[in-house]
Amino acid sequence: MEKVNTEVKGYFGEFGGSFVPEDLQTVMNVLEEQFLRYKDDPEFIEEYNYYLKEYIGRENPLTFAGNLTARVGGAKIYLKREDLNHTGAHKINNAIGQILLAKRMGVKRIIAETGAGQHGVATATACAMFGMECVIYMGKLDTERQALNVFRMELLGAKVIPVSKGQGRLKDAVDEALGDLVQNYKNTFYLLGSAVGPHPYPTMVKHFQAIISEESKRQILEKEGKLPTAVIACAGGGSNAIGAFAHYIDEKDVRLIGVEPAEAPTLSEGVPAVIHGFKCLTLLDENGEPKPTYSIAAGLDYPGVGPEHSYLKTSGRGEYVTVTGQEALEAFLLLSKTEGIIPALESSHAVAYAVKLAAELQADDVLVVNLSGRGDKDVEQVFDMIKK
Ligand SMILES: *Cc1c(COP(=O)(O)O)cnc(C)c1O
Repeated sequence: MEKVNTEVKGYFGEFGGSFVPEDLQTVMNVLEEQFLRYKDDPEFIEEYNYYLKEYIGRENPLTFAGNLTARVGGAKIYLKREDLNHTGAHKINNAIGQILLAKRMGVKRIIAETGAGQHGVATATACAMFGMECVIYMGKLDTERQALNVFRMELLGAKVIPVSKGQGRLKDAVDEALGDLVQNYKNTFYLLGSAVGPHPYPTMVKHFQAIISEESKRQILEKEGKLPTAVIACAGGGSNAIGAFAHYIDEKDVRLIGVEPAEAPTLSEGVPAVIHGFKCLTLLDENGEPKPTYSIAAGLDYPGVGPEHSYLKTSGRGEYVTVTGQEALEAFLLLSKTEGIIPALESSHAVAYAVKLAAELQADDVLVVNLSGRGDKDVEQVFDMIKK
């Protein structure tokens, strides 16, 4: 199938766009039209807000990490508690938003891809809530490594399809899901899990994750009477980070800092390229193919990143830094001990950088760290890393 750039909206500087075969582009056009139709619709907003509050448990707190701040010295550290959401991370904000859109579009069948299983679980949860048929594509290798998440999705009523084509990894699951969408688009909605993919996904996912900074901005003004020095979030595909940044992008004095694993430094070392239907900074191997990465945090293990982050980086508005898996592990242990909060290994990357930065700043500086998820899912892995 020929790939065409149809010059749709959804560019952030040179990044983003939609580079997909023609039949898939038709589906993206319908999706864009429906998203634009409903996103500002008062009834749609009311329904979204209802589920944010009654089902996800928002608004979640912006907790002052007093013990950690005292330990580190320097800037005050606040934690935006996405870990307290139903299902334990930010992904559910987006899953609920997209499924409400699917409902408006009259669709009854949801498909999604998942790597480690976190997006699959969030999607299966939302489908159970809304009585939708749910099909999750997952690389066969990943189904074997994440057997418990597969079972979790099945408990929630989803059908998990192991994909053994290719290398049996996330990329192959995405290809299968896209094939399904092209075949069944009349009754099927593809629920994408991060701020990546062809337009309108990056814009839509940001829209549904922007609730994070809408709340944190109000909360920090209440608590400190001023905006933070910096907002810090980990970046895999970039959905929790773009949601954590959204309402601060126009506040030029607030530093926006995305933290990547040193083992998958997409924004720090990537080059502009088209992958998975959109243009972004990407890690490529010598053959120009997306480079396999390895991070201890499965959710950060992606060779590309959202187009808006690519633009924030190249335009200089955003700062992107790396921390190593070892540093993230230390931050995981430190936050658990000092604050009684076990963070996801993904979020631990943001905590690790916040700790370094806080020590260099003054007591009247304020950091907002997005705690994208809780670490229960990672306890067994950390056990193996520490005890072996
Ligand atoms: C999936 C995940 C991430 C990474 O995804 P983004 O789209 O970059 O936010 C980060 N933290 C947690 C807890 C996750 O589950």
